[in-house]
Amino acid sequence: MRTLIKNAWILTMDEQLTTYRNGMVLIEETRIAYVGEANATLLERADEVIDARGGILMPGMINTHAHVSMIPFRSLGDDCPDRLRRYLFPLENECMTASLVYHAAQYGILEMQQSGVTTFLDMYYFEEEVAKACEALGMRGVLGETVINFATCDTTAPYGGLAYGENFIKEWQGHELVTPIIAPHATNTNEAWALQAAHELAVKYDTLVTMHVAEMDYEMEEFRTNYQMTPIEYLDSIGVLSDRLIAAHCIHLNESDMKLMSEKQTRVAHCIGSNMKAGKGIAPVKEMVASGLAVGLGTDGPSSGNTLDLFTQMKTAVYAQKTHYKDRSLFKAEEIVKLATIGGAKVLRMEHEIGSLEVSKKADLVLIETDSLNMFPIHDPYSAIVYSANASNVDSVWINGRQVLKNKQSIFNQKHVKESLAKEMQTFRQRAIERAQAL
Ligand SMILES: [Zn+2]
Repeated sequence: MRTLIKNAWILTMDEQLTTYRNGMVLIEETRIAYVGEANATLLERADEVIDARGGILMPGMINTHAHVSMIPFRSLGDDCPDRLRRYLFPLENECMTASLVYHAAQYGILEMQQSGVTTFLDMYYFEEEVAKACEALGMRGVLGETVINFATCDTTAPYGGLAYGENFIKEWQGHELVTPIIAPHATNTNEAWALQAAHELAVKYDTLVTMHVAEMDYEMEEFRTNYQMTPIEYLDSIGVLSDRLIAAHCIHLNESDMKLMSEKQTRVAHCIGSNMKAGKGIAPVKEMVASGLAVGLGTDGPSSGNTLDLFTQMKTAVYAQKTHYKDRSLFKAEEIVKLATIGGAKVLRMEHEIGSLEVSKKADLVLIETDSLNMFPIHDPYSAIVYSANASNVDSVWINGRQVLKNKQSIFNQKHVKESLAKEMQTFRQRAIERAQAL
């Protein structure tokens, strides 16, 4: 199958940030076969021709940190202090089932596709169900089973995620769309041996580790008191700070932490929406990028930021940095689009396959329409994406060469996915009400 997209304003996000004002992209099966100026001879080679009507065609966006199956928690206890321990942990243990994880993941994946996200990193329980949801909906996922120091909804003993995770990795490794990884929950919810075991798993299967790092005030305090170290220094001291680690949040980093991370080539998932909603602080993204760290954007779970789209993250990230440093010129729009695309691909170690529109890369693309009132005029397409656009401007999405969104409509049965999730959530809803009344 060969699909030609014509009349597109193409932002390739390649090394030179090449753009084509009236460009074409040819997709052959799962990969990009041509990107460049309009070329009439390509029309004959195509089985299908799509007119982009001057819209902006760019690489699919990459969400580097999510817990997609937490959809049921969205808008629950939003303003409650220590929501993690009052709502999330107890309700997860009481109500999360394999089936609920599967249906919630399907819902979240559809939501991401509609907002132009074509790849996401996930950390949760029953991660195999998330993998099945990716397979069912043609989504690219980098998925890690959670490892934590108590029995969870899918394990009967503390650290059960290690065994589940290893089976999961063995089962799904080499899959076209799913990359299985391992996900220790956080620096302070795992003992050193468990963090080391997770790291060893990643080495054994040549995969990645992801973890919440330097996110909480109390986490920083704990490490200061117990070890006289920062969490980053601690991770380094036990041998798990490496180029396999994707550290989520990293709000509280000092200069020497960033130097260490840059030496070890540790990657960062920056989750500004979640960080700011919980009043946790603003991560030093300016310094991280200056230190040469690979940084991508993440939404965190739909209960932490209430959204899974990267338009919100791009905007919030750039507002926060400019305001924090009181510098309007900081982070040009193209730098922010980079974080959402090729930057994210580098974080996931997938920059040779996705993150930019280049010949022979995987055909993960997003077409953003420019007909809506909020998209006029466009003096600079990067600025239009960061400052003018929102998720509702996403017109079409291709993942691995397959078009999953056409004229803003999913090719999947969205109504059915929503109804199935609502049905699965009945017990959860009841328990959530009881918990709120008990507080
Ligand atoms: Zn998270």
